[in-house]
Amino acid sequence: MTSTRRTFLTAAGCAGLLGLGVAGTSGKSEADVSRDSFTIRSGTDQATKVYVTTANQSGPTVMVTGGMHGNEEGGYTAAGKIADWDISSGRLVVIPRANAAADRQDSRVADGGVDLNRQFPTGSEPETKLARAIWDVVEKYEPDTVIDLHESQEIYDGDMVGGVGQVIFRSRDKKTENDATAAADYVNENYVSRDGYDFTVDVFSSSSNEPTGLFTHKAARDTDAIAYLVEATSEDTPLDKRVQWHTKVVQQLVEDDILTGGNDGGDGNDGGDGGDGNNGDEQNKPPVARIETTPTDTTGLGRGATVTLDATASTDDDGDISEYMWDIDGDGTFEKSGESIEMTLSHCGRYQVTLQVTDDEGATDTDTVVLSTV
Ligand SMILES: [Zn+2]
Repeated sequence: MTSTRRTFLTAAGCAGLLGLGVAGTSGKSEADVSRDSFTIRSGTDQATKVYVTTANQSGPTVMVTGGMHGNEEGGYTAAGKIADWDISSGRLVVIPRANAAADRQDSRVADGGVDLNRQFPTGSEPETKLARAIWDVVEKYEPDTVIDLHESQEIYDGDMVGGVGQVIFRSRDKKTENDATAAADYVNENYVSRDGYDFTVDVFSSSSNEPTGLFTHKAARDTDAIAYLVEATSEDTPLDKRVQWHTKVVQQLVEDDILTGGNDGGDGNDGGDGGDGNNGDEQNKPPVARIETTPTDTTGLGRGATVTLDATASTDDDGDISEYMWDIDGDGTFEKSGESIEMTLSHCGRYQVTLQVTDDEGATDTDTVVLSTV
């Protein structure tokens, strides 16, 4: 159940700069990260963008890839969203559409017929120009963690020959075992409602077993990176659900490394995926979201002003609030977590900020405020 209470404060324009920020895209005012992007295989039909987000605070580097196989839309759609994430520390490097030509063709491989995710042999050079260009990104940024997002039709039953959906494959070290298991448990508990669709965890095939030449294999074996290959199933599963699974798995895997709100992001359910098991036997009362701001009047602020948005006045009558998520740029995606956040109004204009709270039964509520500069 979702109810909405909206608090629209008067929006003030910005004299002389009218229109700036009206679309909300400039609301990404978090000054704590810098964003960069560049194109690999530029000028070819394989040209694709690499997105690099660097936090002011030092920390590990995480690299995420999607679209190695062009018919795995959930993976590259999720990677595209992940490329926009704010991070609190370290660096996030994302190639959403690693195999752009295949992605455009909605085909596992592009015209040439080679499987991109078999062109990364352990211990020797990548075997195609595209694989080489992707590996150059690894060599440039030396990621500590590499996560590659894939999809499969069928669900994994322990046999690589059949379908490999709903698995987090991991490199062979203790950290990946613990982290992948925790991520799978979290996603299963909160985002998987159908029997047989739970994520499981398995190790990569050994270097002498098929399949070989996988990007994550090379990352794990030829560098010090820990690596994961995440496979969601596309069987009877709509795209938005697959995207949710991918993004939640990645969020869990890297939360302690680069994301904010490490303590409160671990046990929620955004409940925003309709019919995913929220309507249990007992009637859960939904939570009530409430944003309190400092300063109280958030209109007519000076450019560069900092506003604190506090969600601790939110309530849940019959339980606890387990997750606080914020959409700070009005795009419908909740990109930050935490009971309280700060925003610096570095751009002139109007910022629409929505809080979504989730209770311990997975019900949600939202509250929205508008901040504006004058
Ligand atoms: Zn794949």
